[in-house]
Order: sequence, then structure tokens, then C-alpha cells
Amino acid sequence: MRDQEIPMLLNTFQNLVWFQKLCICFSDIALNTSPDTCWQDGQLFSRRYGDVYFSGDCGLGEKRYVFLQGNRLAERFASLSNEHTFAIGETGFGTGLNFLCAWQLFDKHASSRASLDFFSVEKSPLDERDLIDALALWPELRQYADGLVARWPRRVPGWNRWCFGGGRIRLTLVVGDVAEVLPEICGSIDAWFLDGFSPARNPEMWTQMVFGSAVKASRPGTTFATYTCAGWVRRGLEQAGFQVSKFPGFGRKREMMRGNLPGSPPRRTHAASATAIVIGGGIAGCAAASALAMRGFSITLIEHAPALAAAASGNPHGILHARLSAGMNLQQRFVLASYGHTLALLDEKLPIDGIARAECGELQLAFSAEEKKRIDKLAALDWPPHILQYVNAAEASRLAGIELAHGGLWFPAGGWLVPPRICAALAENSAIVQRVGYRAESLAFVDAGWHVEGTHHGQAWTYEAQVVVVCTGYQVKSFAPLAHFPLTAVRGQITMVPATPYSENLRTVVCAGGYLAPSIAGTHMMGATHSFNDESVDLRASDHVANLSRLREISPSLAEAMNINSLDLDQLGGRAAMRASLPGALPLVGKLLPGLYTSLGHGTRGLLTATLSGEMIAAAAAEQLLPLPAAIVNVLSPGRRFTAAKVISNAGRGNSKRQ
Ligand code: SAM
Repeated sequence: MRDQEIPMLLNTFQNLVWFQKLCICFSDIALNTSPDTCWQDGQLFSRRYGDVYFSGDCGLGEKRYVFLQGNRLAERFASLSNEHTFAIGETGFGTGLNFLCAWQLFDKHASSRASLDFFSVEKSPLDERDLIDALALWPELRQYADGLVARWPRRVPGWNRWCFGGGRIRLTLVVGDVAEVLPEICGSIDAWFLDGFSPARNPEMWTQMVFGSAVKASRPGTTFATYTCAGWVRRGLEQAGFQVSKFPGFGRKREMMRGNLPGSPPRRTHAASATAIVIGGGIAGCAAASALAMRGFSITLIEHAPALAAAASGNPHGILHARLSAGMNLQQRFVLASYGHTLALLDEKLPIDGIARAECGELQLAFSAEEKKRIDKLAALDWPPHILQYVNAAEASRLAGIELAHGGLWFPAGGWLVPPRICAALAENSAIVQRVGYRAESLAFVDAGWHVEGTHHGQAWTYEAQVVVVCTGYQVKSFAPLAHFPLTAVRGQITMVPATPYSENLRTVVCAGGYLAPSIAGTHMMGATHSFNDESVDLRASDHVANLSRLREISPSLAEAMNINSLDLDQLGGRAAMRASLPGALPLVGKLLPGLYTSLGHGTRGLLTATLSGEMIAAAAAEQLLPLPAAIVNVLSPGRRFTAAKVISNAGRGNSKRQ
């Protein structure tokens, strides 16, 4: 083999691995695994494992003794300085009691500007009723439990990131199997709560692999505590690297274990005075700015248009559309995690009021052979009904309130919202200085920070900060480190159609080739067209026709009732804007260079994927636990995805020169 062929082969191999990773159907995404619980003598009991979630009389005391005291959390919380973060990892979320106890203790002892990451994995999440009943046993935790219960309907299979207490408490709850989830943690844990059911009944929670993964996600000085004292668990923990000691158990239990990794913890470096510049005032930029502000950053938010949400985020209405494919590859898992995160964030920032946001549900219709195949495959999976359900045409029509030609998938939490309202709500923060009408033209790393230069009404300006997040859609060519990204402008036009008495019956968002929203103040929104490499935002009759023609796929009777052929196209309202698309449709989210992050290329999914992307970037910039697994972080990474392709094309060029 010639020398020059080796890097080519290596890169081809890397690309193959990357592609395989993207396509593999990951099994750590547990769907609707019922926990199979019942109540026995006032205690929540798992039939599957033959064990209780906590003891009914002294559950709270035991949890606090074993896990909080066992990890010396009160004193460790009290010693955190401003902007510092403490990370707890737990095996087995169960009722969330440990989480609530830790949150309460954190509130009591930690500085008001410190924050807590609580990471937990749970294979079989409780249903809502059991969770509510279990937590109602502890009135003193009520204020915390209410927050958790409110988020619970937003849980999705896979990774969930919910923020509480204004962002001071971050819960990463992964619905999946412990063995597959723990190796995917990005970040390091300071204290572990090992809380599977008893090792004899639930041995898969206490394996060498689980202990090894916990150690890999830890740092010097990380502690653990567990109620069990089983000899093989102790030996396993020691073999993994923990120094283990026995300790008197709670109440009648003789002994428990606690321990730590050798060494003392390094200090987390995120500075209290950290500054950031976010370029781009659409949903991606506003979400990143908001997530950074929650972490104590001072942010300058730069937008070249005269107002925030000027491009695709400026549409009067947008729909929450989680389009999944049956393979549940990494991209789909990202979409699903984004769906849950966005719903939870909207609950906090943009409550459902029928004006700024409606949770009317969304139907995705099996209107073509291809869509039917996708929908049939998805429907065959065992989804939690609060995420999606399969419905036939009659059920779909009943849900929609109008006659539909097809059945399909029903997303009860889908709906519409006013994108500029969520952008404004995210950017409304005293830590965010908005600079609208400011055009950023270049960025460079100078001395110890990033400098962004541009103009405002012809006047030059420069801002500098430790962190820059570029969220400018497809417009990146003037930013040297990003100029190679293959971002493409995709024009999209929506059409506003006057409602008729029949169409006023439509209650849900319905998607087929295009989408149709229920009447809002007498008008339906329909969308949207896709024109690649077309940067004009004029309103076009031909695009109205394209949108209207898709109405027949949704409901021929509605198309007839709305008399779409005789509408005066020049009188129809609408809006055209650019979205940014990338080959493969995965956005570029994460760190490109030290201090330089991107949230770009969200395409038509921006309303869904931009918020979790902002959360991930802010967590990375603050050196906190990331809200997504390593495999997804890697495929989204702006650094990783185009390097291999570039190297290959360089290698190819090198070869052709030699020939
Ligand atoms: N920490 C919980 C609390 O505060 O309520 C109690 C946890 S309960 C004792 C154990 C939990 O581990 C159960 O919710 C069970 O479903 C979960 N579990 C069991 N096997 C698992 C596995 N292989 N992967 C992830 N979770 C698992």
C-alpha cells in the first residue's frame, strides 16, 4: 500500500464509523417500558423487581441519611462559590424523591448564584398518577414536587433536560437503560447516588460495567453513597477505583456504604464575570443568550435587522412539528430530546393562552405511500401515548374537527406559537444587552478573547468577549473560521388564508405535504414552500398556489369548502423568509474553537431544535454537564463533521497531483 493511501483509508473508515453511528438504531432509547407498579400498605411497589421505591414510614429520613449525608452534601453545597456548579449522578430516578431532597438541601446551603446539575437514569418512568401520589406523601417537599410534576408530561424517551428555580437547578433525566446511558455522559459528576432496587433483585443496576462507567464520568474526589452493603457490590466498586467504607445503616439497617475516588477535586474554572457575544437575534440566538444568562454570563446580543426575530423566526405563527423516522437514529433522538425540552421551556416562558401559543395537538397524515411507510413503522413502536399515537382516518377526523382523508400520527402536545414572542421572552433578561441594527462583519481571536467587528448606521464598532456564539442562519461567509460551512439559503413562504364557517371547525394542526393551522383570528396559516439558493423575500402568487395545492392532501372537503381555486391570490397574506440548510439536515451545534460556538443550520426545525442547542452551548461554555449524550454531541459538533470530509478531499487532491 502506498503511504498516501493510508490517510485516505483512515478517513474513509472514520467517515464510515460516523455514518454507522448516525444510522444505528440505538437501544438506549427505551420507549414505553411500563414500570408495573402497585401500592402495598401505603408503599409504592415494583412488581417487576419485587421491591419498594422507598419505605413508607421513614422514606424521606432514609434518603437524606443515605444519600445526602452519605455524600456530605450540606457542607459541600455550602462551600460552593458564586457561579460554581455541583453535579450529582443517580442510578434509578424512581419517584424523584432523591432529586427533590437534593434540590431542597441545595436551596438551603448553596450560594444563590451557584447551580446544581442532577443527572439520573430511569428505564421505566412512573406514570403521572403514581408520581403524583408518591410525592404527595411528603408535604414538606411540595414546592419542589409541584415543579417536577408540572414537567412530567413533557418527558420523552431518551434525554430530557429541564431547568428549575430560574435555571439554578438543572435536571437531566435519561429514560433508558443504565448500562447504555452512563457511558454517554458528557461532563463529570461530583457525587453518586447508587439507588437501584436491591442488588439481588435488580442486578443489572450493580454491574462492573455500571461502576466503571460511573468512575469514567467522575473526577478525583468524587464520592458515592448507597444503602446496600452487599459484598460483591463493594468489591465491584473497589475494583472500579472507589475507596469504599462501611457506615452504620439507617434505622434497622445494619450497614451502608460510602466512598470516594482518590485525589482532590480540581476547581471548576467558569469565571463569575464571563462575557459572551451572541450574533443573530432569531430563535437560535435568543435561546443561546437566555441559556448563557441563566449561567451568569453578561451577553451582548447582536442582530443586524432593526428588531429581533427578523428572518424565519419572524413568521406570525410557527408550528411545533417533530418529524421522526422509524430508525430512531441520532438525528431522530436529537429531534425527540428537542421536542421535550422545547415544550418544557415554553411552559415556563410562553404559557398556553391561545394567543401566543396553543397546544391543540398535531396530526401527521399518511397521505402518500412513502409517508404511510414511515408512519406504519413508527406506529409499530411502543410509544408513550402522551408523545404520539397512531389514529385511523375516522379518529383523526374526530380530533381535527373536520373530515380528513387519512389517518396518521397524533402528537397531543403539538401545536402552534408566535415565534417572535418566544424570541422576545428569551431575550428579555437584565444580563442580555440587545444591539439591534448592528451588523457583525468579522470575528477574530485577539490576545485572550474574541473580537467581533461590524457597523451600525455606518459607524464601526468592536465588542470583545470570552465566548462568541454564531447563530446567523446561512450568513457565515464573512466569519473566517466558519466560512467553509456548506450552509444554503432556503426560501420558505407561508400563506394566510381566510377561514370559512366549515374551516373554523379545524381544531388541530394538520401536516401532510404542507401544514395547516387552525383559524387564528379568522385566518389559517399554511406552509411552507422550499426554494433552494433563492434569497428573495418577495411574496409570490406561485408560492401561494403551491401551498394551497397541498390542502387537498390534507382534506379534499376542506379544500372544496375553502374554495381554494377561486381565491384572489393577490389579496392573500403571507410571509417569505430564509432558513439555513445543510447536507444531511443536522445543524451545526457546539464548540468550533475554544470560546467559539455555533448554532446554525436548523432548517425548517428551528423552533424545535434551537432551544436545546442553546442549552447545550451554554452548558459547554460554563463547563457543566451537557444535556445530550456524547454520540449526539459528536454528530452535531461543528468541528468534527466537516473536518473528515475536508481531509478526504485534500487527500484526494494530493493524489491527483501526483498522478
Ligand atoms: N431514586 C429513586 C427515588 O428517589 O425515588 C428510587 C429508585 S428505585 C429504588 C430504583 C429505580 O431503578 C426504579 O425506578 C427502576 O425502574 C430503576 N431501574 C431498574 N433497573 C434499571 C436499569 N437497568 N436501568 C435504569 N433504571 C433502572
